[in-house]
Amino acid sequence: MRLLLALLIFPALLVAQPGGQQGGVTIQAGEECPPGMTEVRPRNCRAPTMPAPSILDYRPRNTVVSADQPVPRAKFPAVDFHGHPAPIRSAEQLDALQREFDAMGLGVMIAANNVSGDALKAQVAVVQAHPTMRNRIRFLTGISFANVGPGWAERAVAQLEADVAAGAVGVGEIGKGLGLSTRKADGTRLAIDDPALDPVWQAAARLKIPVFIHTADPAEFWQPIDYKNERWLELALFPNRRYGEEFPSFEQLAQERDRMIKRNPNTTFVVAHMAWYANDLPRLSRMMDEMPNMLVEVGAVLYDIGRQPRAMRDFFVKYQDRILFGKDSYQPEEYPYYWRVFETRDDYFDYYRDYHAFWKLYGIDLPDAVLRKVYYQNALRIMPTVPRAAGMQ
Ligand SMILES: [Zn+2]
Repeated sequence: MRLLLALLIFPALLVAQPGGQQGGVTIQAGEECPPGMTEVRPRNCRAPTMPAPSILDYRPRNTVVSADQPVPRAKFPAVDFHGHPAPIRSAEQLDALQREFDAMGLGVMIAANNVSGDALKAQVAVVQAHPTMRNRIRFLTGISFANVGPGWAERAVAQLEADVAAGAVGVGEIGKGLGLSTRKADGTRLAIDDPALDPVWQAAARLKIPVFIHTADPAEFWQPIDYKNERWLELALFPNRRYGEEFPSFEQLAQERDRMIKRNPNTTFVVAHMAWYANDLPRLSRMMDEMPNMLVEVGAVLYDIGRQPRAMRDFFVKYQDRILFGKDSYQPEEYPYYWRVFETRDDYFDYYRDYHAFWKLYGIDLPDAVLRKVYYQNALRIMPTVPRAAGMQ
């Protein structure tokens, strides 16, 4: 694939090579072919005889013939722990959401939009007034990390207590700005494990609510944007996703997060996006073993879940009590890809976003007992006030 990509990316360098086996370039063992060429026989590189398409335009038909079908509806009602609905303002909006939830098998959405104070009360009131959706949306509340300094923790804890009294079932989603960019009142960077934040984490433990935190971004965003980078296309499409020298490293952010989780063992932390280690299950497994108060959420990393179906199935079975379904971006047409990966043993099917992944996905075929935990039982365990939807046994 790497060589194929090189070919796709360097069309200008391609030169016709007549003469069959005789053409091309010889390389030494362990060397790579020059740009624009691929290894057609051991240590023999050749260029295509036609101009190669770019990675944007190369869209080969999937020729694997399969009787399997997409999975439009989850097998068991799901709690979306990582919901980002538009602000809930009207019954009509809830009517539309209800149709979408029902069509895809979503039982309950946890809105992770950091809504606090009067805005939280207003949205809770709209949900509570709806005859059928009143039990199908709950809210996480936000923590303002502005001006952390003397007096900040007391104010933050008081707001948290008020928001929980108003119906919030957790904290989050704490965004990646914590660690990457948020400054303290004194102008220095606010580290994720700054002890000034501990009173808030401890309040969450006392209030028996989980803290949902998104730290950093895929590690490739810190790597050189060259043709070895798995996220080349994404980084080329979205230049603001690159992290240069002015930012803390991926590893530093991960270590700050882990120290914070370890220092607050009575607080339940849900780490978004499988901590960006869905492509490094040995490391993620060590984290799970070292931090029993940590759960992971699966949003927006389906491309890593579905490309290693056997190792991932083993991981889900081993840590079945500590994995939560969550989707992130609210696009109803994308949820069925998650159901298909979790529920089936389908091979080699398309993912919905090329710039995340130039590869295909495979089903990980979770047993029903594990599916129920990932879809709703684990969420209900850590948020006991969330109502059960129909079918959540
Ligand atoms: Zn999110």
